[in-house]
Amino acid sequence: MIRLIFWIAIVFAVLWLWRKIKPAPQRPGRTGEAQPLLMVRCAHCGVHLPQNRAIGTGNQWYCSQAHLNEGPAPRER
Ligand SMILES: [Zn+2]
Repeated sequence: MIRLIFWIAIVFAVLWLWRKIKPAPQRPGRTGEAQPLLMVRCAHCGVHLPQNRAIGTGNQWYCSQAHLNEGPAPRER
């Protein structure tokens, strides 16, 4: 009898761990609503990065705070 309880406990522990490790299931409705990743160009170095990771000021985008401080790159000769 004790063995049976022991095994049930193990099964529950495994299920609990599985739930903890496994990422939350994504609902189809939410993924469908996900907006397309908009790429923007850093006005200083010209690198492209997702808009949600870029720092924007007005209509200019920068890849980092340092480039934001330095401002737009001078025109290429
Ligand atoms: Zn940059």
